[in-house]
Parts: sequence; structure tokens; C-alpha cells
Amino acid sequence: MTERLYYRDSYLTEFRARVVGSSPDAASPDAASPDRERVYLDRTAFYPTSGGQPFDTGELGGLEIVEVIDEGDRIAHVLAGALAEAEVAGRIDRDRRLDHMQQHTGQHLLSAVLIELFDAPTVSFHLGAEACTIDVAGTLDPEQLREAERRANQIVFENRPVTISFQDSSGDLGLRKATEREGLVRIISIENLDRSACGGTHVRATGEIGPILIRKLDRVRGNLRIEFLCGARAVARARADFEALSRIARVFSSPLDETPALVDAQREKLQESERTRGKLATELAQANGRALYAEAAVGPDGIRRTIRRVESITEESRAEAQSFVASGPAIFVAVAEKPPAILLAASKDSGVNSGDVLKRLLGPRGGRGGGSATMAQGSLPSSAALQELVESLTQELNIPV
Ligand SMILES: [Zn+2]
Repeated sequence: MTERLYYRDSYLTEFRARVVGSSPDAASPDAASPDRERVYLDRTAFYPTSGGQPFDTGELGGLEIVEVIDEGDRIAHVLAGALAEAEVAGRIDRDRRLDHMQQHTGQHLLSAVLIELFDAPTVSFHLGAEACTIDVAGTLDPEQLREAERRANQIVFENRPVTISFQDSSGDLGLRKATEREGLVRIISIENLDRSACGGTHVRATGEIGPILIRKLDRVRGNLRIEFLCGARAVARARADFEALSRIARVFSSPLDETPALVDAQREKLQESERTRGKLATELAQANGRALYAEAAVGPDGIRRTIRRVESITEESRAEAQSFVASGPAIFVAVAEKPPAILLAASKDSGVNSGDVLKRLLGPRGGRGGGSATMAQGSLPSSAALQELVESLTQELNIPV
């Protein structure tokens, strides 16, 4: 059984221990380090992954810690190589440990405050590399979360002691969340606020949690997932947010706090000018259609014909076609390559039914589409199929190419 030194002292980051067992790490073979080994010690300050908190990193006997696993009674230290000595020194990555202590204690505090204010119980906790989340049963609105954030930070500023005690599970432990553990239970208390059964690493007073920042909210399987950051993470995030917002503010040459309203106004302006642009483009296309009609040669049957190569069939192509065939007896064809598509328009007095003609030519070539007698449109599976269709169509309707 491994003695867990972090149970009584979360600040212990250097220790000596005796190696009591080791085995090749068959569970996670890694070609890069075939000598990987699981090492067991009589005691350890390394925290193994459990309760939503990731394992500690660092060195054991000069070898890098790859993973720390809780095997129940024992803790396995997965090392990058094979250990030679029987007695070793362990050194834990202090910054990572302190970060985990801040996030984890912050979670206790936030969960306790959510009970205190809104009777909303925490059902799970995850400490991620970037952010931490808790899942809370029920619903809370953004104003309630702002209130919880204010209250949690108030308790941080009060610098209340956070203490560790061990009590027997047979008595009334007065815990926030009942524990299933039998016998001696490790209890983490925040003075006059919270008592939780927990095996994790925590700071000794709420002031060391540092600022608590609530961010994103998501609905996940009927629960509310709250993203939060504590301590140095909260400061780093606030700094990144400030820099991102400042970049936006610089674009608008506006004070930071006025930027959201300005962005809204700019978006409305953009939508308005997009509407105007669309209207002008249609008018231009109609004028083009009329000009094309005026330039087009009149056939012996009195019909004017034109064929246009365009990049794609758009609202403007249709406006141009409509305007062309509205000017007198006329047939208009637009051919697009990206993607392969065709547009056929014909005036009522041209004797051509656009929909019928196109449907008949599209079908055998794997194309799809249709339309009315005056305007029809279709898409084709390939440029070759389009080319073939264009040849048949221009021949049939006597369109000069
Ligand atoms: Zn804890």
C-alpha cells in the first residue's frame, strides 16, 4: 500500500522514497521508450489521475514521469525508462501542481456557493489543460452565475482557511455531497462554508485560489456545464480576452467598451449596403440584357439569339436573360463552368419552350433541372456532358457559337 504524502501536505513537491516494486509497462507500450516501467514506492507525493484532477508531472530518480495511476491501494508511477536505485528522490513540477490546487479548490468553493445561493448541486468536475468545467443539475440564468461569481470571489478575498481532516464514516460528517467511502474519510473544509470528501490537492486558504472567472455555459445531457478558471489561469485568460478585444477596437478606432454597440451598427450597415448592392447588380444586369439585345443580329425568322459564357449562374444571370427576352423575339443561353450549368430563356413569341427543351436534353446526359417556358435552368455532372448539351442545344435552336 502506497502512503500518499499529498493527503496531509499538498505543498510537498520534493521527497525521498523506497522502491517496493516495478514491472515493465505493458499497458501502454510506446515504441519511443521501450524501457518504460511502472514503479511502486513505499510513499509518494505524486498525485495520480482521479476525481477529475490530472496526475502530477516531474521526475523520479532523474527519470521523467509519464503518468501516475491510482490502482486502489497502490500508486503506479510510469517512468520513461528503467530505474536503477532502490531509494529515489522525487521532484514534482511545482507550477503544474499549484495550478491544479488553485483550480480544484476553486471548484469546491464554486460548487459550495451554487448550493448556498441556488441549491444547485454539482454532479461532476473536469480539470482540463485549458479550462475547468463543472456540471450542475438544473438551470441557472446568466445573472445567477454572475451572482455566484461575485460571491465566490468575495470568499476568496476573505481568505478563509481550507483544512484537511480525517473522520470515520460512521458518524454524521455533514458533507455537501454524501460519500460512499467506508472507514476513514478525508474531508476538505472551507471555513463556515463547505465540507467535502475528497482525495485531491488543495490550497490552504481561499486567498491562494486567486480570482475566479466564470465563462461559457452549455447544456449537456440535461445539466448545465459551467466553464471556469481560477488563479493564474483566470489572469492569463483575461489578458488574452483584452488583447483580442483591443484588436477589434483598434479596427473600429473606438474605445473598448463602445465596441460591441459599434460592431452591431456596422453589421446593420453592411446588411443594408449588401441589399443596395444586390439591387444595383440586378439593375445593371437588366441594362446589360437590353444592350445585348440591341447588339444581337436579327435572324431570318426575326429572332435575336445570344450565348454567354459566365463563371456561374446567378441572380444577375437570370435578370440579364429575362431582360434580353423581354425586349422582343429572342433566345438567350448562359453557360457556366463552376459548377457545370446552363440557363435557357426564350420569349413567348419565339416558339421555344425553355423548360421542355432543357428537360429533354438534360435527362440523357445525367443532368437535372427544369423551369418554365420562358426560363429554365439545369446542372450537369461534368464539363464534357455540358459541352455535349451545348452543342445539341445551339444546333437545335440555330444559335451562332
Ligand atoms: Zn477536492
